[in-house]
Amino acid sequence: MSAVEDGFDAQVDLTADFVRFPSTRGNEATAQDFMAAQMRARGWDVDRFRIDLDAIRHLPGFSPVHVSYDDAWNVVGTYRAPRPEGRSLILNGHIDVVPPGPAGMWTHPAFHPHRSDGWLYGRGAGDMKAGLIACLAALDAIHRAGFQPAADVIVQSVVEEECTGNGALACLAKGYRADAVLIPEPLHECLIRAQIGVIWFRIELQGLPVHVAQAGKGANAIIAAYKVIEALGALETKWNVAKSEDRHYKDVAHPINLNIGKIEGGDWASSVPAWCAFDARISILPGQDLNDAKSEIERIVAEAARDVPFLVNNPPEVIFNGFEAEGYVLKDAEVPVTALAQAHRTVSGHDLNEVASTATTDARFFGLYGKMPALVYGPAAEHVHGFDERVNLASLRNVTKAMTLFIADWCGLHSKNG
Ligand code: ZN
Repeated sequence: MSAVEDGFDAQVDLTADFVRFPSTRGNEATAQDFMAAQMRARGWDVDRFRIDLDAIRHLPGFSPVHVSYDDAWNVVGTYRAPRPEGRSLILNGHIDVVPPGPAGMWTHPAFHPHRSDGWLYGRGAGDMKAGLIACLAALDAIHRAGFQPAADVIVQSVVEEECTGNGALACLAKGYRADAVLIPEPLHECLIRAQIGVIWFRIELQGLPVHVAQAGKGANAIIAAYKVIEALGALETKWNVAKSEDRHYKDVAHPINLNIGKIEGGDWASSVPAWCAFDARISILPGQDLNDAKSEIERIVAEAARDVPFLVNNPPEVIFNGFEAEGYVLKDAEVPVTALAQAHRTVSGHDLNEVASTATTDARFFGLYGKMPALVYGPAAEHVHGFDERVNLASLRNVTKAMTLFIADWCGLHSKNG
């Protein structure tokens, strides 16, 4: 713990350096180069590879994409124990961040990290560059204390977590395996016991364009979109009712959230709009069948369109273009959970709280498709996906200590000189 303390200022500086990269989707490559250099400097084997769609599109958990992966690089650094004896570990984090939104809403520019009052500000500071750098810092602390892990530790810096999860899936497809996985997402020092699934879709509607002077003869695609959005809202309400049957979500106020995240349409204020398109996200409970949910979305949209005369013969198109994520419940993981809970208690003096998350994480790939227990546990952060995103440094310090103790316990330790 004192070795974490000794390295903490350098850890925060490195996190800030990392936040400076505007690693939004499609723009992660330079941040990944930086990460690869950090790993090489620690003497690990570095595997820097592009996501190969052909290697993953047939796999369970794959999410469809309509963007290029020409510049979508994963970086995996492996510390190989000279005499492996303990249990191996994957530390995983995502490098991609969501767009900052309107610059004017940020007190300081989103990619100019700023430290004040015990917080580090910047897009991605919380979600989840602090966690990703904590993986390096925890291993540095073990080294600084004169030890090395007695089992292999694989650190994965992946892309595509915020939209598909295909980065983590590509790591799985390449064969990376370990006895447990830890993902330091910003979880307020809680453990995720259950996470919902997520579906992304885009709805494209057509209209009949006429001069507004004859608006009654046209069909307004934007107004029609309202009808469809209303119907999707009713679907959200219906799926939330099912929470009463779910042991992890029955006490969560509103686990299923529909978000209309983007909308565009029309060409001219005096022309009845010929088109409207919007992008949406909805969630599903663990155990809710993903394909059934997709069919239900299609059916709800088709039904709503039946109330709009023009759409009867011109039905809206539903395009699934991102997350097709199943829910995940952490099961059969008593040994790693107990080890993490012990580490957390040693550092904080409190029991480890467990939560049912209303967001998804990459844990599902390891847990559902790789049969590796995947623990999600990380520092307190605020305003992630909002503005003035920030990570709490006292919390980051505690989490880094807990991660270090967990690695020491899980992997075991050898002295640095063998
Ligand atoms: Zn995240």
